[in-house]
Amino acid sequence: MDLKRNGSRPSARASSEYFTGTVWRENPFDAPDPARVSGSTVTFEPGARTNWHTHPLGQTLVVTAGLGWAQREGGERMEIRPGDVVWFAPGERHWHGGTATTSVTHVAIAERLDGRHIDWAEPVADKDYLGG
Ligand code: MN
Repeated sequence: MDLKRNGSRPSARASSEYFTGTVWRENPFDAPDPARVSGSTVTFEPGARTNWHTHPLGQTLVVTAGLGWAQREGGERMEIRPGDVVWFAPGERHWHGGTATTSVTHVAIAERLDGRHIDWAEPVADKDYLGG
């Protein structure tokens, strides 16, 4: 058993290389091999979002606070709320984040394939983010 205590690790600001706006990652978990699951609790400030990206083995989001937006390529922008559980299929291009006016917090869970759980692409343009 490994117990990672709340507060034992500092909050980390997510890289502007992969995120627009201010995004905080906390309480990361990366199960050791042969387990493959990894994730963290992610908080997006208003206007903040991920770049477009895919997950080789898919991703689950569990929304815990606030109000956010998520969208898969070619689909509608969806509101996500506390208690919502979102699944992105392997290879499905998408983004997630706060709305233009509200923050959101979700737990993000993805499995690693050959050591990677995410493949990053370009930022989400304002017109796509705001236009839905
Ligand atoms: Mn994702």
